[in-house]
Amino acid sequence: MTTEELLQYDREHIWHPYTSTIDPLPVYPVKGAEGVYIELEDGRRLIDGMSSWWCQIHGYNHPVLNEALHQQAEAMSHVMFGGFTHRPAVELAHKILSIAPEGMEKIFFSDSGSVSVEVAMKMALQYWYAAGKPEKKHFLTITKGYHGDTWNAMSVCDPVTGMHGIFHGNLPVQYFIPRPDCRFAEPCREEDIRPLKACIEEHHADIAAVILEPIVQGAGGMWFYSADYLREVHRLCNQFHILLVCDEIATGFGRTGKLWAVHHAGISPDIMCIGKAITGGYMSFAATMATNKVATTISAHEPGVFMHGPTFMGNPLACAVACASVDLLQTYDLPRMIGDIEAQLKQELTPAAEFPSVADVRVLGAIGVLEMKHPVDMARLQALFVQEGIWVRPFGRLVYIMPPFIIRSEELSRLTGALLKIVKSIS
Ligand SMILES: *Cc1c(COP(=O)(O)O)cnc(C)c1O
Repeated sequence: MTTEELLQYDREHIWHPYTSTIDPLPVYPVKGAEGVYIELEDGRRLIDGMSSWWCQIHGYNHPVLNEALHQQAEAMSHVMFGGFTHRPAVELAHKILSIAPEGMEKIFFSDSGSVSVEVAMKMALQYWYAAGKPEKKHFLTITKGYHGDTWNAMSVCDPVTGMHGIFHGNLPVQYFIPRPDCRFAEPCREEDIRPLKACIEEHHADIAAVILEPIVQGAGGMWFYSADYLREVHRLCNQFHILLVCDEIATGFGRTGKLWAVHHAGISPDIMCIGKAITGGYMSFAATMATNKVATTISAHEPGVFMHGPTFMGNPLACAVACASVDLLQTYDLPRMIGDIEAQLKQELTPAAEFPSVADVRVLGAIGVLEMKHPVDMARLQALFVQEGIWVRPFGRLVYIMPPFIIRSEELSRLTGALLKIVKSIS
């Protein structure tokens, strides 16, 4: 197949994320990737600004991760987890639980972030069923969230950006309150907390859990909110006997400058989802962690088991590469590494706040966001970015970057320089 034929077949037969089959957005054929560079079929090399959607923290084609994968493939690529266990799974559980937020004692492996959210929500419901309060079956969340594309995960995504209207009547009904306006590193005011408090006071009897992305809302709005708010959520959940589910699928493993975003608030949830960077971006894998209280309550009451078990649960290849990724992460001086990226992003992106088309510039950890005044033409903007040798995929009014942690200072400058050049040119 020539590249042209390949693209032609792709256009005619393959669904890509969030696009039409009649008039699909353009796609760029990739030949390989190495470090922070993605190489296209025509030989052009792009600096990766997306970490392939939060995942590729160590960069592409990493020798240590490659080696872990090869070695595990020689031993076994997969074996069922029902009735079997294996070293990669046990080692990974130990590595993750020993660095997880306090109280996380049990881990459930699954195959993708959305599934780990389904598992978390199911755990919360089964917990209350086991605790003799089956009427606690709704979830409370904040708007502009994103938790995945499967059915229950979708029910707690932002109803507008998630386009829930289409599925009206088929999705479980949840409680939504406005996302907090109080920004990261700023205090929360009484009025920021009020809707949360009011909803919990009125509905706590039928709320199983609050579910949210701690500190950083990702795909639903790229918004960074105050740690005070998260602390208040935690406090109210405790006070009113509601579980707290933190979705750290995007934020986990250092992206926000702390190993876990909940560390910014000094709290621990009852249930926590992790995914994306867990395998260093090598393959689809995720996990749901829970406290002993949650696990024991579920297990101590009829039916006595947690009713879930994906075919590829605990996949050895994924576990082996995840072990290598976590080990690698622990060799980094993470606060310094992310602190340096953060400082550079702040310095280099802030001038964009003066552009007429830009409404807001914000940076947290290794995440930089330009919020535009109007939605951007993604296909056009992306073509311009590719011409400049960078890979950035905007959506709606958000143009943002979250590069691999290993990006060097001069590479990051080229990324931000090209980004600002293009954004300025469309102003
Ligand atoms: C990406 C993401 C998910 C969904 O994970 P998938 O692996 O795409 O299913 C869930 N929650 C958050 C916060 C995410 O960023």
